[in-house]
This record gives sequence, structure tokens and C-alpha cells, in this order.
Amino acid sequence: MSSKYEDVIIGLEVHIQLTNLKTKLFCSCNNDYRGSEPNTHSCPICLGLPGSLPVANKKAFEFATRLALALGSDINDSTYFFRKNYFYPDLPKGFQISQYNKAGGRAFADGGKITIKLNGKKKDLILNRVHLEEDPARLVHKGSIATSPYALVDYNRSGVTLIEIVSEPIMNSPEEAREYLRQLKSIVQYTGISNLDLEGSCRVDANISIKGHPRSEVKNINSFKEVERALKWEIQRQKNLLRRGKELIQETRHWDDKRRVTIGLRTKEFEKDYRYFPEQDLVPIEIDQDFIKHVMEKLPEMPRERSKRFQEAYSLSEFDADNLVLDKNSADFYEEGIKIDKSFESEEFKLYCNWLMNDIAGWLNENNKEIRDTKLQPEQIMDLINSIKEGKITTKIAKTYIDEMMKGTPISTIIKESGIVRIADEKYLENICRKVIQENPKILEDYKKNPKAKMAFVGKIMKETKGQADPELTNEILERLLKEFI
Ligand SMILES: [Zn+2]
Repeated sequence: MSSKYEDVIIGLEVHIQLTNLKTKLFCSCNNDYRGSEPNTHSCPICLGLPGSLPVANKKAFEFATRLALALGSDINDSTYFFRKNYFYPDLPKGFQISQYNKAGGRAFADGGKITIKLNGKKKDLILNRVHLEEDPARLVHKGSIATSPYALVDYNRSGVTLIEIVSEPIMNSPEEAREYLRQLKSIVQYTGISNLDLEGSCRVDANISIKGHPRSEVKNINSFKEVERALKWEIQRQKNLLRRGKELIQETRHWDDKRRVTIGLRTKEFEKDYRYFPEQDLVPIEIDQDFIKHVMEKLPEMPRERSKRFQEAYSLSEFDADNLVLDKNSADFYEEGIKIDKSFESEEFKLYCNWLMNDIAGWLNENNKEIRDTKLQPEQIMDLINSIKEGKITTKIAKTYIDEMMKGTPISTIIKESGIVRIADEKYLENICRKVIQENPKILEDYKKNPKAKMAFVGKIMKETKGQADPELTNEILERLLKEFI
């Protein structure tokens, strides 16, 4: 952990939409509002019209149970909903149906943890609770919230199920928060309750303080990617104020994604301002052990277990396996390939993992794509590895294939069409090596003092052959020739 942040305390409240549900939390309106005309997925219940009565969506409880089990939280045997009262245009009822863990109320589940690894160190980030609530409507602003001349309201989102995961104030740096969210995203992906790549499917509120000073709550960070940036900015803002001898106040701030600053909205409201009271229109929900057992039995393998299995079955290091399983699609892709080529053993398993996690992952990152969005097939990577093994191409040449591979082009076609092959003609390589040595007397002088200078020759030879020279053979020839010259 960087000492720059040693006095920083961060707690995160992560709101995740259960996008894989078919209907909203308390009505039968379509849950999938994305791409629809505004205000076309609404009914008296999610508009909060007088006389309408909410009915809880059983599947939402099943999804919440899945997540709570995956996080190791304790699921409460009964849970009620509360009304959280406040006025805002996104909330036509004047209250949000939520959960409350005081005044006789209980969260859906308490505790749990997410384990992160940062700079080789493990840390358990303890959770406070997991609870369910309805999403308010969506407000659309022109430009920044602070300067927009109007706010448009789209009630399609009103009543969509949100699950809130509240951590203890236990993180000490923006990097820890980033790792926490990476792990949480992975766990959510494995449970199958939500697709967090959909825009607006997750929102984060962050509580940030410098030890001994009041905290600020930064609201509405609308993507996991923005969290680290928002935290860094807010920590800097607080530290700057303290450095100038100013006092910090407890307040709510808004993260402005476009300007990348936090803006003070209001001094912090307190819990009592929300006048929480039980939602009388909904009965307490009982969660019995049979239900939990049933959900547990259907729970797929989670990333941590999968990583352990990968380490044992494919002899991967803990680091490689942890990285590989983080994205379920990449891990599934990996296993599809393993099934295809039965000749693969630990050496190839490692190479396969490296290709996926380095060159392929780099390409996906650069192009902002998921592996499933491309035409890449596991067979191509297996063929690539085999082609290198058989000496048809060098690793360096193979790296130039990535763009073409992503289009689904078979390796044999790429080799044929690129005309780039490994040069393993001994006589030909010897001539090039000799020429390079003769043309570079200075490197030769260096080499006499320090044998490491040989690499400078290798670099020249690779340049000369456009990276096609077989590296092993080049080394052998070079070693032999250099003896003649010294
Ligand atoms: Zn509705």
C-alpha cells in the first residue's frame, strides 16, 4: 500500500441492477428497458399511483440469495421492506421501497467478504450488508447536472431491482477499491444475476475520509472504471483543504464524469431525515433453509474455486489462474480449447494462458471488446501454439497475427497469405550473422568486454530478417561465429 494513502478510509456502497430478471421488483413490467422509448415500461405500481399495491418478485430473492451465498454473507430468515422517504422527481411515490437494518428491520443478508490481492498481499474486505431496493426513475440532463437547464424523467427504470452491497469502511486506497470492484464484478458475473457491462447497471457511492475528519459521500459514480479516478480526486481535494488549514464538512458530493471533478450538492443529510418506516403494503419475506439449500445446489462454480481447480488441473500458477478466471467468458474460452486438443500438457496449458492473458487480452482492452464479441476461436490459439512448436513460425511472427485471428481467420490461412515464415536455413542465417558482426565493430568491442552485448547483434539480425530468424538457431550460429572474431 502506498504511504500516500495511509490515513485514508474508504467505504463503498455498490448498487447493482439485477439485469437478468425478466420483470421489475414489485410489478410485472419488463425489466429490460434499455433501448426502449422513454416511459413505455410503466404501470400504476412502478409509477406509485394511489391504490396500487406492490407484489414482491420471488426471482429477485433467488438472485439475492445467490449473491449472498457467493459473498459468504449470512442470510436473514425474515426480512421486511421499509419506506425511505424523500422528495425527488425520480421518485413519484415520494418514497423508495428499500430495506433498513435498524428500527426492527434487517438487511437481506449481513456480513460476508471479498478477498483482494494487491502487490502480492491478500486482504479480506469485510462487508456490512447486502440489501434489496427498487431503482428510482432515470433523470436525463443536458450536459452536467450542475448546469443543465432541465431534467427529463424516464420512468422505465423506476422499480427495477437493485441489490446494494455495502462494505465496511475498510479500504485504504483507490487501488484497493479498484481491486474490490474487479472481484465483485467477477462474482456477480459468475452468479448470472446481472450483466455489469450494460450502461447504468451499476452505480457506486463512496464514503471517503481522512482519519480524524468528517467524511464526504460521493454519489452516483456511474461505472466501476470511474471509481478509482473519483476517489483519487476526492482524496486530493480533502488533503488540499486540510493543508490550507481549512476544516472539512460532512457533505454529499456528486461525481461529474465529464469534468472529472466532485461537486458539492448539499451538506450531508442524516438518516433521520429519511423517516424510515416499515412498508405496510408488503408482508415480511421468510427465507427458509430449504430455499437457501435449493439455491446453493444450483450455484455455479465461483471464481475462487475455479482458480484452485485451474491451478491443479492445468498446472497454472496462482497468479495466472486468478487472472484467467476473473472474466468468466475468458475462462470458459480457455476450457473449451483444453477440451479440443488432448495432446496439450502443462507447458502448452501455460502458453495458452499466456496468449489469452497477454496478447489477446491486450487487444481486447485496446479495442474495448469482450472475447465473445470477436470471432476468435480456441482452435486458432491451439494452432498458433502448435505452429510455433513445429517451427513453422516464430513467436515474434505469431504476435503479428492477432488482428487477423480476431476476425476468425484460421492460422494456416494467415501463414499462407502473410508469406512470413520462420527462417531456419542455417547457411542463410550464417551469412546474415557474419555480415552483421562485420558491419558493427563497436558492438564487437563491447562484446569482448561484456558478453551481454551479444543481444545487440541479435537485435540487428532480427531487424535484418524482419523478425523471421529462428531465435534459437540464430543464437547458436552467433555464438559460434563470435568465437572466430575474438
Ligand atoms: Zn410497473
